[in-house]
Amino acid sequence: MRAEIVAVGTELLLGQIVNTNAQYLSRGLAELGIDVYYQTVVGDNEERLQSAIAIARGRADLIVFTGGLGPTMDDVTRDALAAYLGRGIELHEPTLAKIEAMFGGRSAELIERNRRQAMLVEGATPLRNDTGLAVGNALSADGTHYLLLPGPPREMKPMFDNDGSAWLRGILGIADTLHSVMLKFAGIGESALEELYMDLVRGQTDPTLATYAKEGEVTLRVSTKAPDARTAARRMEPTLQEIRRRGERYLYAEQDVGIESEVVRLLTEQRRTVALAESCTGGMVAALLTTVPGSADAFLGGVVSYSNGVKHDLLGVPETLLEGEDAPGAVSEETARAMAEGALRAAGADLAVSITGVAGPAASEGKPVGLVFIGLAERGRETRAEKLQLSGDREGIRIRASKRGLYLLWLTLTGKGEA
Ligand code: ATP
Repeated sequence: MRAEIVAVGTELLLGQIVNTNAQYLSRGLAELGIDVYYQTVVGDNEERLQSAIAIARGRADLIVFTGGLGPTMDDVTRDALAAYLGRGIELHEPTLAKIEAMFGGRSAELIERNRRQAMLVEGATPLRNDTGLAVGNALSADGTHYLLLPGPPREMKPMFDNDGSAWLRGILGIADTLHSVMLKFAGIGESALEELYMDLVRGQTDPTLATYAKEGEVTLRVSTKAPDARTAARRMEPTLQEIRRRGERYLYAEQDVGIESEVVRLLTEQRRTVALAESCTGGMVAALLTTVPGSADAFLGGVVSYSNGVKHDLLGVPETLLEGEDAPGAVSEETARAMAEGALRAAGADLAVSITGVAGPAASEGKPVGLVFIGLAERGRETRAEKLQLSGDREGIRIRASKRGLYLLWLTLTGKGEA
């Protein structure tokens, strides 16, 4: 089956947002064995959308739309397809009930405005939206299949993964579905990870392994095709055991979460607290930790000590470390240690992490771009510091340094850093 993805949204054409939906869908369709031949982007304009449909129909058996299912007048995807096919629009009662329950008691006008989101192209199968309001549409007409998904990725992804791909599997007559486990690693790069599992990656066709890298984190996806989840788990288990055994020092989760989630979970479980002293990362570690719900029990606070003055005044870093010809300087192991100890003391925390480094683009204090020191202070233990030479641009260095700080914390909390 040949597919075309049609992303609808003027924001995409203006470059205000990136078309991440197309990437997600291309990958998902490939996993179902569907060939994506074209990705199209079209603005919120009914006429142009209809001509995009006409073109796509001529070269694809399946057209997957994202965007334009919302409540406003510029959300035209459903109407454009209905008009193109010469079909009407019908109400999906369960979605309307959901909208009424949400806005009920507030205003009839709100319900009326949102009613559009409960509309289906006549004869379409509704696709459940667990994370939003707009109902998805799936239909086949004159030998072409159409899938209409919402624009917001947090709605589009679960809809595609659940009802959307189930509908496609029905059309394709696929009994087996793809089951995957996401293994998350930190403290190791993508190529080192591939090397660690080289024989598994090369030698196996079922389950299959694939790595994906993000700044400071790598995901290893283990997948198998099976009729149900239990059969899939049984088939994957020996491989997973081997992966766990070899990657013990780096494997922090078996689901798609950031390392900050695991750090908060461990801190909460151990009833311990952490404080931060951040220089070149400017509060990034604090921002990551506070994305995790419930982090308030574990994270006490942090100091963004960008200047030497703040390092000294708020964290008590001795001036002799910071200034003077023979001083090690702000970017040094000694200062990293003193920053971590200062944060620990100031916040009364059980643990503290500090980060000081040169994010670039220019060298500083005669120290090269990418040189970063991470300090780790722990109540009742000797303070440690790690020296890193990171590569990449300013943002990449800042993210990787932040993730590394969290990784060192994770190593300490799991006791895996003792080796
Ligand atoms: P809404 O109910 O929010 O109006 P919608 O289905 O009408 O949903 P759009 O209005 O087209 O979708 O887009 C809503 C938001 O979803 C956009 O502002 C953008 O943040 C995100 N979005 C839309 N299309 C894409 C895409 N192709 N890739 C990534 N994000 C997207």
